Amino acid sequence: MNIPQSSFPRIVIIGGGFAGIALAKKLSKKEVQVVLIDKHNYHAFQPLLYQVSTGGLEPDSIAYPIRKILKDFPNFFFRLAKVEEIRTEEQLVLTNIGNIAYDYLVMATGAETNYYGNTEIETNSMAMKSIPQSLNLRSLILENFEQALLTDQYHERDALMNFVIVGVGPTGVELAGALAEIKKGILPKDYPDLDTRRVQINLIQSGDRILKEMSVQASEKAEGFLEGLGVQIWKNMRVTEYDGKTVTTDIGERFETATLVWAAGVKGVGIKGLDAKELLAGGNRLIVNHYNQVIGYNNIFAVGDVACMQTKEAPNGHPMMAQPAMQQGKQLGENLVALVEDRPLKPFRYKDKGSMATVGRNKAVVDLGNFKFQGVFAWFVWMFVHLFFLIGFRNRMVVFVNWVYNYVRFDREARLIIRPFNKDYKMFKD
Ligand SMILES: Cc1cc2nc3c(=O)[nH]c(=O)nc-3n(C[C@H](O)[C@H](O)[C@H](O)COP(=O)(O)OP(=O)(O)OC[C@H]3O[C@@H](n4cnc5c(N)ncnc54)[C@H](O)[C@@H]3O)c2cc1C
Repeated sequence: MNIPQSSFPRIVIIGGGFAGIALAKKLSKKEVQVVLIDKHNYHAFQPLLYQVSTGGLEPDSIAYPIRKILKDFPNFFFRLAKVEEIRTEEQLVLTNIGNIAYDYLVMATGAETNYYGNTEIETNSMAMKSIPQSLNLRSLILENFEQALLTDQYHERDALMNFVIVGVGPTGVELAGALAEIKKGILPKDYPDLDTRRVQINLIQSGDRILKEMSVQASEKAEGFLEGLGVQIWKNMRVTEYDGKTVTTDIGERFETATLVWAAGVKGVGIKGLDAKELLAGGNRLIVNHYNQVIGYNNIFAVGDVACMQTKEAPNGHPMMAQPAMQQGKQLGENLVALVEDRPLKPFRYKDKGSMATVGRNKAVVDLGNFKFQGVFAWFVWMFVHLFFLIGFRNRMVVFVNWVYNYVRFDREARLIIRPFNKDYKMFKD
């Protein structure tokens, strides 16, 4: 990998997401050598992926080069590589570009879509966990309408204009809201020769309320917002099969659709060598102690979505969200320096700063401790917080200008098929 030897201890961080970047920043001017490895050369701001999928933002505005974030840090090295294995006994990380030895290793690999073992759904559905996946979804949505124009078969046209989203966390809710706004504001202008009133957005959940990590008040209000926008919400329904054409559910309801978006769950990204059963909690997350140390290891740590720190307040680990990831990254940065300097470590304490989700124009829900509010003010708070946490001045400006433009013009100009997705539509001709 061509990393020079150093007299300082080497910390290898796998993953430049919220947790990995927060950690690297904390180590910036310390007497350690930091090697950050990521399979992408950018940090992706995942909370805004749904806006890329729905043409509200260009992907560049929610991504930021990792090298630029850390450019002024001495003793810092970035390598664009996919980590394939960890050899804990040799203290070695194996990647597709070579191997690197570590003194301390930090897993900050995040999470991936969880299909709960259903390979048929995995093959045929769309996920929205990365920028390339969001671009695929954007292309598919637009291609469906182009295709709908070409058919004179009602059932085929309806299937092309039927969007089924499984999962009612912020991802599913925000995507459903954005699609509903496109149906109302954009499709009638773009496709005057198509009866876009027949566009359907179905949001399916196995539970009985949306945004279940938030307050009941937020759930109910968000549900009202979505229904007002024409989204059909299905409760206590489990999707069991999707062959690329028909969604089958456990209660017998079926949906003909060209687009199933699977946002029903995530699991930690594991790596060979650190995947023994006894290391993992539910959702494939590495069990860590209060110092984010992976159980059984003194020099291996995990932070963010991939880490499961079981506490009295969070028996199943902290929520897989940006705040716990950033807070753990910062705290581990301090603890690694303490470890190197032979000082005592500080246990991690999560400060819950609240949660929020947006449903669309002037519609959001916010829970800040006992302070809960919804509607226009919540929407402005949601926008401000997302702008604040975006990395890079240019990105903030571009997103802000886009939002103002979209708000004033009722528009989403990034509805472009740059990289076709090429779904096989032949199955709808049967
Ligand atoms: C669509 C969507 C919407 C979301 N909305 C919100 C929200 O509104 N609020 C909120 O708080 N959270 C939200 N989240 C969750 C939030 O983004 C995650 O909790 C957060 O990104 C976790 O940070 P992390 O650093 O643990 O992982 P990530 O940010 O996922 O970073 C992991 C990094 O590891 C890299 N990596 C993984 N495996 C390898 C490998 N083998 N080799 C090299 N590199 C590797 C990846 O490329 C990635 O850069 C959302 C997530 C999604 C997908």
